[in-house]
Amino acid sequence: MRHRHLNAVLHPNVLDVIRAAAVASGRTETGGLLLGWWERDALVARYAIEVPDPDATTSSWTRARHRAQNALDRALADLDHPWLGYVGDWHTHPALCGPSSQDEQSICNASLGYSQPLLLLVHCADEAIKARSAARGQLCPLTIHCRPDSF
Ligand SMILES: [Zn+2]
Repeated sequence: MRHRHLNAVLHPNVLDVIRAAAVASGRTETGGLLLGWWERDALVARYAIEVPDPDATTSSWTRARHRAQNALDRALADLDHPWLGYVGDWHTHPALCGPSSQDEQSICNASLGYSQPLLLLVHCADEAIKARSAARGQLCPLTIHCRPDSF
């Protein structure tokens, strides 16, 4: 099977929100949803929203379906942007660097429910942000672009 190559464009606001959330949550993981749209064949991540998990620990943050859906509905109503939709997930790793095999499995599983690839961003303890993409249940190669002038 050929893997689709994903081009993902990140708005600087996405990185700012994720970095601020990582600092605010300290030694506890946090995470949320990426909202954006598709522009030709590129995924554009325009907003990151936080979906707090009251049971998060230093090595786990769970994206509870009902909390994620509520946060998504609220954000779409507040932002009131005609193209916006769910394009992926993000979370922080205070203790461990890089997406885990469990993280990769979750984004692969989630991608089965969507016709387009999903993006996962993981904020590591060293402040780097690592990305994965999955389409139809499998990881696919991706290139991240930061294009602040295009918004
Ligand atoms: Zn993780």
